[in-house]
Amino acid sequence: SARIDQGIEGLVAEAPAAAVADEARRLVDDAMLEELEEVLIAADMGVETATRVTANIGDALQGRRLSTRELKEALAREVTRIMDPVARPLPIYPKKPQVVLVVGVNGSGKTTTIGKLASQFKAAGKSVVVAAGDTFRAAAVEQLQVWGQRAGVPVLTAPEGSDPASLAFDAMVRAEADGADLLLIDTAGRLQNRQDLMEELAKIVRVIRKKDETAPHNTLLVLDATTGQNALLQVEIFRKIADVSGLVMTKLDGTARGGVLVALADKFGLPIHAIGLGEQIDDLAPFDPQEFARALCG
Ligand code: GDP
Repeated sequence: SARIDQGIEGLVAEAPAAAVADEARRLVDDAMLEELEEVLIAADMGVETATRVTANIGDALQGRRLSTRELKEALAREVTRIMDPVARPLPIYPKKPQVVLVVGVNGSGKTTTIGKLASQFKAAGKSVVVAAGDTFRAAAVEQLQVWGQRAGVPVLTAPEGSDPASLAFDAMVRAEADGADLLLIDTAGRLQNRQDLMEELAKIVRVIRKKDETAPHNTLLVLDATTGQNALLQVEIFRKIADVSGLVMTKLDGTARGGVLVALADKFGLPIHAIGLGEQIDDLAPFDPQEFARALCG
């Protein structure tokens, strides 16, 4: 995805004979707004959101001459306005165990995120149990066990190919018996067979509800920021197969600056509970809209 800061710099620099003092300025007119919209679309913000953001900037600033800095600030304000309402940490319920179902396509960072979450909650004094619900991938189970060791929390597993719903049930029993505060359940992410996945997740939910009809208390969708616009599609698909309550956006440490997050927030309004900033156990941070807007807009 293209970078917004560079796009804005280009757009102001090419202002026709608009240099005031030693700083280039660009008149906010229809042509400029159209170019701005292109910059935002190229940065993964999506057409609808880019159009709306551009229109807001036009409403506020049409006819003025802006420097690069002023334009970046105006954009950052718009982005912050969209992102503020979705920046919410994972809600903690008094119910024990709080059940968090973690969904997402393979490779999005589910296992890693579960490890990081387990570690954070443990550090905050909560007792955590993890269930390795992707029973079809032995590697995923092993990886989750490694994360469990790092975080110092038990990881419940089941034989390869066994029913994830029955593992989820066992995990509920174990978490209740242990008086655990939190149960994190990993799930499979094979979108190739959507119908199977839907049935599998529905069965996990059914079985969990036999133990606690209010569970799962959260269904976290983990998305990889580097997939750009594809993340929008993944939200649409997963909202059909699971009752997604919030998002975790991973890999925001890479080159992806996450323009797609703005599109996601604008389109779906789902809370962003945390962002992944690396592969280590501490690389999970709360989502900070202002910091994000500054990083995105330069
Ligand atoms: P899963 O298949 O959804 O369980 O995905 P994994 O948790 O196995 O993650 C897939 C890959 O992405 C692994 O190599 C992780 O180390 C990496 N990964 C996960 N989260 C992040 C992140 O926030 N930043 C970076 N740079 N890599 C991440």
